Amino acid sequence: MGEKIPHWLDKQAFLNPEKTALETPEGSAYTFMELQEKSRQMAHYLIRMGVEEGDHIAFLSGNDIHFPVFIHAVSYIGAVVVLLNTRLEAPEISYQLQDADVSRLFVQSSFTDTALRAVENTEVEVVEFENVPPVSSPEGALKKEIDFDAPYTMMYTSGTTGKPKAVVHTYGNHWYSAAASALNLGLTPDDKWLICLPLFHVGGFSVLIKSMVYGMSVYLMDKFDENRFHEAVMNKRVTHASVVTVMLQRLLKRTGSSGYPDTFRCMLLGGGPVPAVLLKDCSAKGIPVFQTYGMTETSSQIATLSPASAFDKAGSAGKALSLADLWIDSAAPGEIGEIIVQGPMVSKGYYNRPPRQEAYIHTGDLGYQDADGFLYVVDRVKDMIISGGENVYPAEIESVLSEIPGIKEAGVTGRPDDRWGEVPVAFLVAEDQTLTDKAVHQYVEERMAKYKRPAAIYWVRELPRNASNKLLRRELLSLTGGENS
Ligand code: ATP
Ligand code: MG
Repeated sequence: MGEKIPHWLDKQAFLNPEKTALETPEGSAYTFMELQEKSRQMAHYLIRMGVEEGDHIAFLSGNDIHFPVFIHAVSYIGAVVVLLNTRLEAPEISYQLQDADVSRLFVQSSFTDTALRAVENTEVEVVEFENVPPVSSPEGALKKEIDFDAPYTMMYTSGTTGKPKAVVHTYGNHWYSAAASALNLGLTPDDKWLICLPLFHVGGFSVLIKSMVYGMSVYLMDKFDENRFHEAVMNKRVTHASVVTVMLQRLLKRTGSSGYPDTFRCMLLGGGPVPAVLLKDCSAKGIPVFQTYGMTETSSQIATLSPASAFDKAGSAGKALSLADLWIDSAAPGEIGEIIVQGPMVSKGYYNRPPRQEAYIHTGDLGYQDADGFLYVVDRVKDMIISGGENVYPAEIESVLSEIPGIKEAGVTGRPDDRWGEVPVAFLVAEDQTLTDKAVHQYVEERMAKYKRPAAIYWVRELPRNASNKLLRRELLSLTGGENS
């Protein structure tokens, strides 16, 4: 048994009963009191369905207003919720259900067909949760406290470098993650955080917990849409939002020259590499971008760069948040090495694997810290190419290639080579079909050392991506059937 605190939703319903906890662009809204009522009702329904403390139940839903209700209901029972990515195919879901020892799968009705296919030949029961009947005689007592050491969620990593792993998060992990973010950004009673990232990943989910920890309003969008996002910032007094690079690129096109009103305080940007040109454009429009670094294992961001340092430290993901620590493994100061992180928001381990023994974790990411301790994320350890004894980082080459006008996307990986051991090769998606290999080579020659220049260019229609929309570099070479130079 770990530290306990009063149940966070009961607390907010008591402190801020009439305050808006959740609203959607479609006009649905719940106060904290209403959210508490709905969640408790859902908890009673789950108990009636036979869900007990410690059970592993899976949840497959888009960013529906029922999502928060469901995850709070689970916390009143002490069950563990496995959050499934809605973009997964039935066999992928089937793997995760078995890997996570799930007994029941609760689905939004639009995913029922996929869910039924996923549970074929298994014991897992599929239940649609949206139309919860009113429970007249509540069965079973609901939890009044939150136990920091108890497991709460299981989320699979994106599976970018291999098979997805089930990260187990305790209540404490989520709470400390929210607290660290609040200490970093500061709070005001009018804060309203827009969610357009999926709630089944830490990027979206963590905002729901922030709402519980600070009593903050959440503006929940079912999916990203630049027009509705723009409207929410301009007219709904949204103060914060979490986005990934592609979203910010689309938003920037939408804003025109005016930028956003002063009420908008924070654009939290994370999840992957960010092209330098994007940060420059945001700064020109006065958009307060906070660049972050984090992963499923750290329950959300663990390092953040404030806009005040955006110029001096362009491209950095900042410093570790106040409750966390971060350093580079066995590197001389300023040298590239593996990023190590530690803190109470870092998961204790993956399900079905031995828990970690050390206080810290190896992230599998490469980076360096400058003399002031600012972190620069370079690339993944697994993706590094060693060419003629030199370390080559695909992300660096991709960043240069994507600057070329007419290039929509770029992916780089290593190809075995007799002379150099490995050489980088590039896979490009063109917006402008007249773009030639020669133009690309020329652009690259002027900007990069010889050993970093792509030894071959392959023009492809699209790049392989996983259900989190992350580039799968390990699948690039299988595209080489296409046209090459
Ligand atoms: P898997 O662990 O299954 O291979 P994944 O690591 O992509 O998948 P996530 O937890 O969704 O799964 O993503 C976290 C990863 O995203 C980090 O480890 C890092 O590689 C990348 N990332 C996050 N923030 C940044 C950033 N600011 N710059 C570069 N990469 C980042
Ligand atoms: Mg990972």
